[in-house]
This record gives sequence, C-alpha cells and structure tokens, in this order.
Amino acid sequence: MDSQRRYPKIFSCEFFPPSTDEGMRKLFAARQELMRMQPAFFSVTYGAGGSTRERTVQAIQAIQAHSGVDAAPHLTCVAATCAGTREILSYYRAQGIHRIVALRGDLPSGSGMREFGELHYANELVTFIRAETGDHFHIEVAAYPEFHPQAPNTERDLLNFKRKVEAGANSAITQYFYNPDAYFRFVDECARLEIDLPIVPGIMPITNFTQLARFSDGCGTEIPRWIRKRLEGFGDDRDSIRAFGLDVVTDLCQRLLEQGAPGLHFYTMNQAGPTLAICERLGLATTA
Ligand code: FAD
Repeated sequence: MDSQRRYPKIFSCEFFPPSTDEGMRKLFAARQELMRMQPAFFSVTYGAGGSTRERTVQAIQAIQAHSGVDAAPHLTCVAATCAGTREILSYYRAQGIHRIVALRGDLPSGSGMREFGELHYANELVTFIRAETGDHFHIEVAAYPEFHPQAPNTERDLLNFKRKVEAGANSAITQYFYNPDAYFRFVDECARLEIDLPIVPGIMPITNFTQLARFSDGCGTEIPRWIRKRLEGFGDDRDSIRAFGLDVVTDLCQRLLEQGAPGLHFYTMNQAGPTLAICERLGLATTA
C-alpha cells in the first residue's frame, strides 16, 4: 500500500448528464454545493455508443465555464468510430479541457448496436488519444479492485489494466467497493507488476438499498453480507439507511486515506448532500 503514499491527494466528483433542463439545473446546484470540498475536477459520464454525447458536452461546457474547477468528460470507445472520437477530442481540446476519463464502456443489452467499435478496449482508446493529441490530456482510466466482471481471471485483468497504463494513462479511478482490503491488495499487486500511477478509490455513498443492489450486481461490486443485511433490515426507512450508510462509507474513506490512498472520487449521482456529509465528517469540506 506504501506505493500510493507518495502521490498528492486528489478529491473529485462524478455526475451523469441529465436528460431534462430541470435535471441540468439540479446538477449545477449540486456542483455549486460540492465546491465546498474543493475538488480537483468534476467528471461527467458518457453513454456508451454516444447516447449522451450532446448532454455530456453540454454539462462539461457549463462546468468548465462557471466553476473554476476542471471538467473531465468520460469518453467510451464501444460502438464508436475513430473519426467520431477524433472529432470529440478536437472539440474538447479547443474548449480548453485537459483531463479525460477513457473507457471501453458497456452497451445496454438489446440496444441493437454493434458490440465493438473500431477500438476494442480502453487500452486502444488511450493509445489513440495519445497518438492524436500527444500529452494534451491527463488521462484517467478505470480500475477494478474486485475485478472486472468479464475478466477471464484476476491475473489477466491486472495485466489488461497494465496495458492501459503503458498506453499512457496518468491515473486511475476504481469501481466503487465496500471491502477496503480488496483495494489494498489490488494496489499491492499493481506495485508487484510495476504499475506506477495513482489509483484513486471510487466511493459510492449509500442512500438507497434497492438501487445500490442493482448497480452492484451489474458492475461486480460486492456488498458485504453484514452491510446488506443491515440495509435490508431498514426496509423503507430511508433516514436509517442514510445514517447507517454515512457511518459505513465515512469509516471506509477514513481507513483508505489513513492507509495511503491518493484521494477519493465520489460517485455523486448528481446529489451533493451524501458526498458532503461524508466530507464534513472527514474534515474535507469547508463550512457552509
Ligand atoms: P477495459 O479496460 O477495456 O476492460 C474491459 C474488459 O476487457 C476487462 O475484463 C479486461 O480485463 C478486458 N480487457 C481489457 N483490455 C483487453 C485486451 N486488450 N484484450 C483482451 N481483454 C481485455 N461506462 C460508460 O458507459 N460510461 C461512463 O462514463 C463510465 N464511466 C466509468 C467510470 C469509472 C471510474 C469506472 C470504474 C467505470 C465506468 N464505466 C462507464 C463503466 C465501464 O465502461 C465498464 O466497466 C466497462 O465494462 C469496462 O470499461 P473499461 O474502460 O474498464 O474497459
């Protein structure tokens, strides 16, 4: 775990691009509140296959223009063409965007789109971005302490992660997890393979058990039995779910930071409250 200690700590937040004007207003209000944690950047997800292209661009433009904080678009390569990817990279570059989160992406099942685009995996996307734009972008990639659900085995997943790093990634953000030991072991394994970059834990605040269980099943995150059982036991009592979730996730963040994690990346789900509550407890947010 010591391999991560030498990097400066970076805190950041992730949004998804809303589909309505009202959703966009809520996102901007959340972004305003989240300024209290002095994030290094706000990222905005991208619907694989380009389904949110316009809305991602719109949200990124507004964040870049109005917050004084870097905006980092996510970009996926599944079902994309090189020409389309080149076009969006040039656009972001012209807008003064310097950070990008490069991903393969997952197509929704039944979407009818081609499974692969011209670039098959995230390492190929990172290579493409470097070939097209040199060192212009700080490139973030995804990491999976509990392993990617489609990986044939853990060693191959680690080696595939290494390919992204060797292709030119500057730092990584993990899938969210609730087992800190999975993260500690993952970064130790990366050090063994001479994978040398900051690996920032992705943090999902707990506010809604049904939604969390669905997401976790899809992305391969384990909700430990003791957490799942407690959350199930609260039934529809949302206040208790939030209070318990706040305790659990704050403890997780504290442990990660104490043991050398180089920051935290919050999956905000476009809500400021749960992330700020954690940051306040950790002493990471200025007073309102
Ligand atoms: P890759 O690194 O390409 O890996 C995908 C799988 O292929 C893994 O099992 C890996 O082991 C294997 N693999 C990798 N390279 C090779 C290779 N060269 N040969 C053979 N096998 C290989 N999804 C979105 O649609 N939009 C988003 O905005 C988005 N943001 C995300 C942000 C973060 C921080 C994270 C952690 C995930 C995000 N995702 C997003 C989800 C992500 O797209 C999925 O998890 C996807 O299945 C994998 O993307 P990846 O970039 O990690 O893929």
